Amino acid sequence: MKQRYSIWSLLRGSMSQHEAWPPAWRDEEPRAKYDAIIVGGGGHGLATAYYLAKNHGAANVAVLEKGWLGGGNTGRNTTIVRSNYFYPESARLYDFSLKLYENLSRDLNFNIMLSQRGVITLAHSRHDAEMMARAANAMHMNGIDAEMLSREEVIERVPLLDTSAAARFPLLGGICQPRAGCARHDAVAWGYARAASSLGAHIIQNCEVLGFEYQGKRVVGVKTTRGPIQSDRIGIAAAGHSSVLAGLAGFRLPVTSYALQAMVSEPVKPVLDTVVLSPATAAYVSQSDKGEMVMGAGLDLFPSYAQRGSFAGTQRTLAGVLELFPSFSRLPLLRQWAGIVDVVNDSSPIIGATPVAGIFINCGWGTGGFKAIPAGGWLFAHVLATGRNHDLAEPFQLHRFVTGRLIDEAGASGIAH
Ligand SMILES: Cc1cc2nc3c(=O)[nH]c(=O)nc-3n(C[C@H](O)[C@H](O)[C@H](O)COP(=O)(O)OP(=O)(O)OC[C@H]3O[C@@H](n4cnc5c(N)ncnc54)[C@H](O)[C@@H]3O)c2cc1C
Repeated sequence: MKQRYSIWSLLRGSMSQHEAWPPAWRDEEPRAKYDAIIVGGGGHGLATAYYLAKNHGAANVAVLEKGWLGGGNTGRNTTIVRSNYFYPESARLYDFSLKLYENLSRDLNFNIMLSQRGVITLAHSRHDAEMMARAANAMHMNGIDAEMLSREEVIERVPLLDTSAAARFPLLGGICQPRAGCARHDAVAWGYARAASSLGAHIIQNCEVLGFEYQGKRVVGVKTTRGPIQSDRIGIAAAGHSSVLAGLAGFRLPVTSYALQAMVSEPVKPVLDTVVLSPATAAYVSQSDKGEMVMGAGLDLFPSYAQRGSFAGTQRTLAGVLELFPSFSRLPLLRQWAGIVDVVNDSSPIIGATPVAGIFINCGWGTGGFKAIPAGGWLFAHVLATGRNHDLAEPFQLHRFVTGRLIDEAGASGIAH
């Protein structure tokens, strides 16, 4: 790192009233040629650049971002990290990610404010409770922490829940992953950008990829708003715009893009020290470090590239939250926003080669790819550097839509971000 952050650097910074800090990453002019280009400066793209340099010694790499770093879904999500997936393939992938998160602040020398406050999923019916017992068993079989909670244990953890006799969604209990929680999303993007830049990667903002250049059937570069840039290895990590880029490259992806929205209330004193998620109402809530209640629910149910979300979606989200926490009806809403997420039929990602030689893709994280940023970057860097899939990425190839070996994680994805 150019400048390590520590108690000593903070003290030194205070001497200049914190006016003399160097920029966290360098703003570079694009070179004519790179060993690898990554399209998309979200968490997955930036983490890929970092692990390319750190794990594979490949630093002649550019991340091209059409807007600003984290301006896609990475800076718009509700920051939940967890690994409570059902199938062994997904459990391995997401738990690898959570383990990387557990050491990420130290690794990047950047405080990502990881808070392992637990995620509690509520059971509102006998069927919910049975499905949760099945999920808990699967998680234990996969070596992942999971606890079944009784109704009383949930009430003790979340006393503001509506558990009255009049509650529309009665509470029977829940399932908790204690190691799950939240991390600050901007810090994840900035931390990876800073660490990748300090290892030599070029982070180039305001540089939109408009098309690809070929020699025969092999890619040899990209056309951008800042001119052509050559490279024979290109990784696309563009989330909601993956299918647009695939279209420019000449192949199709089984991805549909939807708006997913979230919102925060005005800040209040601490009232909720865990993440609560209710599949029956589709709503989930946590409290940010600033005190805002962070709320979300399901997708806007029509394909869209508009980063704002519909009013019907906002209304549905708030109605769900208020069924759970009637007292929140007195909180003023501060902000609402949306991101464009890339949804695949089996709710599992795609990390690997594409039909075009030299172009690789990392996409399909849908509503739940923030938690997967460290693993997504690690595995994507592996295939870009070596040309071979990492073992953890092997089940998540585009080819599964031909063979039918789908990994249907709709139960663990969907609203469960
Ligand atoms: C409201 C909301 C809540 C969510 N909550 C959670 C959650 O709690 N937990 C969780 O795990 N996940 C959550 N997610 C999902 C998660 O945010 C995403 O899966 C993840 O951020 C994807 O990261 P990424 O780097 O692939 O994509 P992004 O962060 O979207 O980055 C892709 C980048 O590519 C850029 N780009 C696109 N086209 C081009 C082009 N032609 N040229 C150059 N650059 C281009 C975009 O500008 C963008 O910055 C949520 C998403 C939303 C929208």
